[in-house]
Amino acid sequence: MKPTFSATPRAIAMPAPTKIELPKAPEISLFDIANRIPDDNLLKVREDLGECTRCKLHRTRHTIVFADGNPEAELIFVGEGPGHDEDMQGLPFVGRAGKLLTQMIEAMGLQRKDVYICNVVKCRPPENRAPEPDEVTTCSPYLLRQIDVIQPKVIVCLGAVAAKTLLETSRGISQFRGEWLQWRGRKLMATYHPAYLLRNPNAKGEVWKDLQKVMAELGLQVPKKTKS
Ligand code: URA
Repeated sequence: MKPTFSATPRAIAMPAPTKIELPKAPEISLFDIANRIPDDNLLKVREDLGECTRCKLHRTRHTIVFADGNPEAELIFVGEGPGHDEDMQGLPFVGRAGKLLTQMIEAMGLQRKDVYICNVVKCRPPENRAPEPDEVTTCSPYLLRQIDVIQPKVIVCLGAVAAKTLLETSRGISQFRGEWLQWRGRKLMATYHPAYLLRNPNAKGEVWKDLQKVMAELGLQVPKKTKS
């Protein structure tokens, strides 16, 4: 089934691209390795998170949104943080942007249960604002543990918050979107957030190109030609 999501990018006259240096993800350090939790697993991560009150987001959240999908997935999608629907249901990406993400996953020939979906922060920022630096710093260790436990082949960062958090960069996502990056020995692809695509449907073609690269990396069949 070829999705309403897929889109052929429009031919737009573009200036010749200038070579941009890609962000270099931090190497895993000896400190990280020494501090790895032995026999860590997702249950432990969830238990350690507990009924978290470590940052101010706990005051306004309804539910902690930990993750959804397959704990043995080869592919992880990392979003920013729960919105209203996610906060009510306790599951990531179930609102409008989530429905689009589900279509994107299905366009790749997969289902949500085949991949792992989580966020940088596990509690909804009020009014859907971006998570603040202290909230990201407090919550991201749980994301790192989730990734360490799952050991995916590919990490897809949905949007700037996820990309900047994992890559520890302040650079704009459009500078490195669609490029394969290394992250602690894994392949990482940053692409636009589905919420951005809802506002800018013309960017769907770019995201579809990124997802096709991910499919090729995972040995999934890439359609020869995609209709809009
Ligand atoms: N946006 C996100 O980044 N994550 C969700 O779970 C939902 C919307």
